Amino acid sequence: MKVTKTKQSRIGELNVDDIRFGNYFSDHMLVCDHADGAWQEPEIKPYGSWLMSPASSVFHYGQAIFEGLKAYRDAQGGVFLFRPDQNQRRFNASAVRLQMPELPEEIFMEGIKTLVALDSDWVPPGQGKSLYIRPFMIATQPALKAVPSQRYRFAVICSPAGPYYGRPLSVIVARKYSRASSGGIGYAKAAANYAAAFYPTSLAIQEGYDQVIWTDSASHRYVEESGTMSIFFRIGDRLVTAPVSDRILDSVTRKSIITLAEKAGLEVEQRLLSVDEITAAYQAGTLKEAFGCGTAAVVSPIRLIHVDDLDIHLPELGEEAYSMQLRAKIIAIQYNLDADPFGWRLRVK
Ligand SMILES: *Cc1c(COP(=O)(O)O)cnc(C)c1O
Repeated sequence: MKVTKTKQSRIGELNVDDIRFGNYFSDHMLVCDHADGAWQEPEIKPYGSWLMSPASSVFHYGQAIFEGLKAYRDAQGGVFLFRPDQNQRRFNASAVRLQMPELPEEIFMEGIKTLVALDSDWVPPGQGKSLYIRPFMIATQPALKAVPSQRYRFAVICSPAGPYYGRPLSVIVARKYSRASSGGIGYAKAAANYAAAFYPTSLAIQEGYDQVIWTDSASHRYVEESGTMSIFFRIGDRLVTAPVSDRILDSVTRKSIITLAEKAGLEVEQRLLSVDEITAAYQAGTLKEAFGCGTAAVVSPIRLIHVDDLDIHLPELGEEAYSMQLRAKIIAIQYNLDADPFGWRLRVK
């Protein structure tokens, strides 16, 4: 791997007490091109713009995939990644579905480790803060043919992230639009899935909600995801979440929460969950919690679910909430505050 260091770090421009997510980028980036059927040598170089032909196929046919993971700093200055192998595998699953070349595991893993170690000053200290890592791949062949590109670029950029202080969400159940459909690309982390969600999400925001709860595209009867997060419901003392399918992203946070919940002796059911069952549980008084989860926010409690004409208000459970207990457990592993019984932490520095 070729490494060209910046002559002038920009770290002095960063105010770690006021980080607006996604607006600042660390000193370096990783770039690796795929040409003539082979991955070229990856290169780490100063973060900066690059020139592209306006005919590049990503602009026309949308071959674009990404990942999102974080680096966390512990009190001793150590820097850790959380289950990056899961992102690496999912990245290649996305690549296969979008007819893009798979990336060798080593380029992904060594590339990210080397980049984060080099830019480790950009991993802000303090609970809740992190360095968000964004690996992505785009099609770069300069040709207007509606066929898979012959050239690709893999790159990794990093953006410091402050703590996520979201208030509990209010969400509306989708009865018309879908994020993903059967046989489609919902399980891939494709840029197009986000583009497809923006319009229905903006309609929900206009109506006063924060997010859409996506339902299955065929019947709109079964809940699947919340915005760009996985979703859990607590009915009685059991946690219920939709099973992973070709419409649902196999979230790293979701599967980690399932493992931690089961280890804590909670019962977790991965099964179809209908909107009718949720409203019935609400009416019977057994619907206790709902929460979204993902790398960005870790866990986001839901306070209101709007279903057709019904507003489901969920109680504020405070420390009693499973969501908060599970959030504390996952954060303790991420920030090296607790043992790591499943080998999820990867030290980079
Ligand atoms: C990225 C993403 C998630 C969260 O996945 P994590 O691996 O937990 O960050 C959930 N749903 C969708 C649709 C996503 O794109």
